[in-house]
Amino acid sequence: MAIFLGAPGTPQAGGNPAASQRYDTIIVGCGPAGLSAAINLAIRQKSFLVLGTDLCSPKMQKSPQIDNYLGVPAISGEELRQRFLHHAAAMGVEIRKARVDTIYPDGEGFSLSAKGEIYQARSLIIATGVASTRLLPGEQDLLGRGVSYCATCDGPLYRGRTVAVLAYAPEAEEEANYLAGVAGRVLYIPLYRPVGPLDSRVQVLPQQRPERIEGAGRVERLVLSGQTLAADAVFIFREMTPAQQLMAELEMENGNIKVDRHQATNVPGIFAAGDCTGRPYQLAKAVGEGQVAALEAASYLERLRTRERSGARELMETTSTALADS
Ligand SMILES: Cc1cc2nc3c(=O)[nH]c(=O)nc-3n(C[C@H](O)[C@H](O)[C@H](O)COP(=O)(O)OP(=O)(O)OC[C@H]3O[C@@H](n4cnc5c(N)ncnc54)[C@H](O)[C@@H]3O)c2cc1C
Repeated sequence: MAIFLGAPGTPQAGGNPAASQRYDTIIVGCGPAGLSAAINLAIRQKSFLVLGTDLCSPKMQKSPQIDNYLGVPAISGEELRQRFLHHAAAMGVEIRKARVDTIYPDGEGFSLSAKGEIYQARSLIIATGVASTRLLPGEQDLLGRGVSYCATCDGPLYRGRTVAVLAYAPEAEEEANYLAGVAGRVLYIPLYRPVGPLDSRVQVLPQQRPERIEGAGRVERLVLSGQTLAADAVFIFREMTPAQQLMAELEMENGNIKVDRHQATNVPGIFAAGDCTGRPYQLAKAVGEGQVAALEAASYLERLRTRERSGARELMETTSTALADS
């Protein structure tokens, strides 16, 4: 099979195996945009890692027949998905199963948190597909003050308290089961079907649309279409991660990540490709943008290295002049 899954923080394959734990590039998302970026970084011999979810592209898996992908007529989405994965595997691409919940600058590049595991890179390519849901009113304001995307990171803060889980995808079940062991009460609002087995302490509520999260400086309530729940925290688990959830500083345009013709975002070192940058939502566009993002990330890394080398030279010259003068 095409996916190599390893323990976080141990670089394995991925073009040029990295000696350190900070990669040149991390690609978030392993759909066609992410995989296209990956094979191009492998060709450029960069150290990189792909972080993605189980299927790599649930969208491709669902698409019955694709007729507009050049050179591969009348193919099912599932078969094309398998071919993409085999191609990536044949080029030594490592895909690690991890859903990134936040990205933040760390001085030397970026740190990515995925269920409390931290990954680091000098540049990033975001290829997370299009999110079918937008942030809820109140979500961003109360982030870190009761709103969370990671049960293992923040669950222990709510020991004995009431937490609500907004579950857009079955992956949330594992998170809710974890919360059942720490929180006093877990209210589970499924937004998908069918709901799988859950810890008996998890209280499953009827499916209903979430409207907003309320509270004066901290989460106090989750307002749903059918009822309002008093809760100390709201844990949100979506299938596709809205870009602003990943990093609030990313500039958006009509709900998509704003990029220029180089697939560069407003944050230097972060590139984006595929459906997450906007319409048309099509495979060929995703693959093309993935390639551009990879080449531009490689150029960015070269520029960074040149700057670092000249900075080091300047520093050495200043030091030797100072020593000669003393
Ligand atoms: C039913 C259907 C039929 C279609 N038919 C066609 C067609 O005939 N022709 C065509 O050109 N296009 C078609 N499309 C569209 C095509 O599938 C998409 O344009 C393409 O898959 C977009 O690729 P992507 O890599 O940008 O995103 P996706 O394929 O959506 O991949 C994004 C990946 O990133 C992962 N991800 C998201 N958030 C995170 C995170 N925080 N951390 C880690 N991973 C994350 C997701 O789980 C997903 O695996 C169809 C789509 C559907 C749904």
